[in-house]
Amino acid sequence: HQADVRGDITIENLSYTYYGSDQPVLNNINIELKAGEKLALLGRTGCGKSTLLQLLTRNWDPQQGQIRLDSTALPSWHEESLRKAITVVSQRVDVFNGSLRENLLLAKPDASDEELAQVLNQVGLEALLEDTALDTWLGEGGRQISGGERRRIGIARALLHDAPILLLDEPTEGLDRRTEQQILSLLMDHAKDKTVLFITHRLVGLDQMDHICLMDKGDIIERGQHHTL
Ligand code: ATP
Ligand code: MG
Repeated sequence: HQADVRGDITIENLSYTYYGSDQPVLNNINIELKAGEKLALLGRTGCGKSTLLQLLTRNWDPQQGQIRLDSTALPSWHEESLRKAITVVSQRVDVFNGSLRENLLLAKPDASDEELAQVLNQVGLEALLEDTALDTWLGEGGRQISGGERRRIGIARALLHDAPILLLDEPTEGLDRRTEQQILSLLMDHAKDKTVLFITHRLVGLDQMDHICLMDKGDIIERGQHHTL
């Protein structure tokens, strides 16, 4: 299926068990999001949030149930359509051995240096630009980056990649309060018309979500909106 994704996400009776385990980590999950809607997914550590994200990006396949994007089942989409449709800020952002420029161009291959510099400023990484600018080598044999910097690189990539679906897995973990607010508003501005799944432990930014789901041990145990929960 090679058309462009509009951004509806339907998760139906989805269950997932890791290989070698006898307990499902996801238990009959049902979620429906119309294009442009925003959902926050909360729940204690280990309840299955990141696993759900792995299934949404088709890294693993569920044993039961299905996920549809628009009206088409996830397995039927072309890899390229999925890559164009979904932006992910994972809980652990991957930075590869390469220049800062190369690490950012992954998200938008045709971006100009000016555009990259502007995004780095937005996410508070202008210090990385000071020395050797976009040629700064990251990773092995290069500049060692901190956890916070790594996360901001993930956010910068998300801001560069203009896709209809944005999946955020604890995007501001480890950032201070003020930075957290700034980064969340940047992301939400960027995601105005996008479908958003926002995984978080914190209670920040929930007022901007259409739906809030509370997960426990692989189940969604409560659903509501900011003012009802
Ligand atoms: P956190 O809030 O700490 O990020 P989470 O809700 O994202 O937690 P998951 O990462 O989805 O939780 O993990 C759910 C459960 O599945 C945990 O018990 C975890 O140990 C287990 N698990 C996660 N990844 C794997 C894996 N690759 N193989 C086997 N078990 C896994
Ligand atoms: Mg997780």
